[in-house]
Amino acid sequence: MAEDMADIAVKLEDGDAIAVPAPTTVKEVLGKLLSGKQRKQTLAAYANGKAVDLSSVLSADSVLIPIKKDSDEGLEILRHSTAHIMAQAVRDLFGTDVKVAIGPAIENGFYYDFLRDEPFSPEDFDKIEARMSEISSAALPFSRTEVDRKETIALFRDQDEKYKVELLEEIEDDTISLYQQGEFIDLCRGPHIPDTSWVKDFKLLRVAGAYWRGDEKKDVLQRIYGTVFFDKKALKKHLNRLEEAKKRDHRRLGKELQLFTVNDQIGPGLILWQPKGAQLRRLIEDYWKDEHYRHDYELLYTPHIARQDLWQTSGHLDFYSENMYAPMEIDDVKYQLKPMNCPFHIGIYKSNKRSYREFPIRWAELGTVYRYERAGALHGLLRVRGFTQDDAHIFCREDQLEEEIFNILDLNLHILKTFGFSDYDIYLSTRPEKSVGSDENWEESTAALKQALEKKGLSFEIDPGEGVFYGPKIDIKIKDQLGRSWQCSTIQVDFNLPERFDMAYTGSDNRDHRPIMIHRALMGSLERFVGILIEHYAGVFPLWFAPVQARIMNITDDQAAYCEAVYSELRKAGVRVEKDLRNEKLNYKIREAQMGKIPYMLIIGEKEKEAGTVTVRLRDGKNLPPMSIREFCDKISAECREGRGL
Ligand SMILES: [Zn+2]
Ligand SMILES: [Zn+2]
Repeated sequence: MAEDMADIAVKLEDGDAIAVPAPTTVKEVLGKLLSGKQRKQTLAAYANGKAVDLSSVLSADSVLIPIKKDSDEGLEILRHSTAHIMAQAVRDLFGTDVKVAIGPAIENGFYYDFLRDEPFSPEDFDKIEARMSEISSAALPFSRTEVDRKETIALFRDQDEKYKVELLEEIEDDTISLYQQGEFIDLCRGPHIPDTSWVKDFKLLRVAGAYWRGDEKKDVLQRIYGTVFFDKKALKKHLNRLEEAKKRDHRRLGKELQLFTVNDQIGPGLILWQPKGAQLRRLIEDYWKDEHYRHDYELLYTPHIARQDLWQTSGHLDFYSENMYAPMEIDDVKYQLKPMNCPFHIGIYKSNKRSYREFPIRWAELGTVYRYERAGALHGLLRVRGFTQDDAHIFCREDQLEEEIFNILDLNLHILKTFGFSDYDIYLSTRPEKSVGSDENWEESTAALKQALEKKGLSFEIDPGEGVFYGPKIDIKIKDQLGRSWQCSTIQVDFNLPERFDMAYTGSDNRDHRPIMIHRALMGSLERFVGILIEHYAGVFPLWFAPVQARIMNITDDQAAYCEAVYSELRKAGVRVEKDLRNEKLNYKIREAQMGKIPYMLIIGEKEKEAGTVTVRLRDGKNLPPMSIREFCDKISAECREGRGL
């Protein structure tokens, strides 16, 4: 038809339009618009804002943006396409014994969920990878077809692919798209890489159980995780990082170093702090309390349960009840475990009449809260059911908000830095669609948060609409040794609770006003923060918060009594010391202390006993010249002061 043959105008976003006969494909057009080198880098494109395959047909004027290898979108398309190829390989190898579910790209890789009676074994992984390589070598094109949804349901039903049928039944459009490479057909929106040869540098990583649609009442599927990159070097780098992360896994180190444990009889997600972990936690808590005192905070303690009425007033029963534990009845009144500390601090606020003269009020508490998490979501110290927040609430006037935010940021970054985190990303989240509080409140407080960040010289990103419904917030994600990001600190302005609890203070005009309330946590929770610290330091903690600073070892039994004396002297001086007086070879004891990641080994033989000294051996095997007990104590306390930034 004449109309079909008409020219269309196509252009790159920042280039000049050219006329090409339509219909044509993205690939052909890009062939005219891009250099050969750029073409080789391009695996898909945005056409008028929509991500499409290179093979997709253009029949109207189009603005094209190539999606290239080095982009996040490019990597995502590669990963998602690799999931299709993995499913194809699994189908080729295991036939219809396997039902395929879904296979998205995820951060750092992809997965695909399969239903299969037998578990996938390491040998299966080898076979699947080998088959994937064959598929890659065959350079099979990914071809897209648009088909009638109802017919496709029938097609998948014939193949007994119940998950695909279920997905298709939920789609509202009459037409859907399928992708096919080789014999394998999958339901998908696309886009994909042009052909399977793009997938060369991949690796299958592990298999885990996953419920169909994340629903515990539905089928348990096997989720195979994998990763893929555009080149060998990037893949290798990623695999090394995974290996390093495994070595640092806080659950493994927590067990090896005897820091914490969980126990089924007590309950999942409930942390038992062993003596060394408890020591570590006490050191963090003491430091935290001291720093808060120095920064003009007062400390509070509040109970773990409260009457249900309180949670009604606070709104938690309406908005947060799925995270709360069932009520218990005491004297015919219902009580519930606290998921947050805020209402208790408000209770203390309301215990007196407040005047503007006392403002700002800064109250901090290491408050233990309980929140429901699905059993499957629990993860070591990072995701638990009971945890201690390093919480604080600041009550102030509007005109004090900016300065208070500035002070919080100051304390926040100071504390993070002392623990060895000086690399972070900061986000300012603004008003979401559903929210309480006036326009004026939101504008002013968002501006105050922004100004405080700027004044502190911090670069930040704005997360539009990602604030909590009750006010804007600042989130700080810290980066660890491996460059991984962890969300820890949050600073939130709240217009809601002061209203709900009818909080007031007397202003200089002698009238009642509503205070501004700020919630903030710096470490997030002690559990989570300790988990991050373990992984960040791989269990090799700086001296100032190492649960054990030194271990005394004798060479023979002749020095046992002297060792005991040194031990009690050091312990009295506050040094965190252990003793190993077993009748074992010194080298054996040294090796154990190294495995326990203990900073100093104090070796005592006849010479030291006679001179009243100790020989200090470092973790890396170096020996310091013998020193007196006093000298060693001074050395330790000087290093700790320095570590704490004093
Ligand atoms: Zn797909
Ligand atoms: Zn709070």
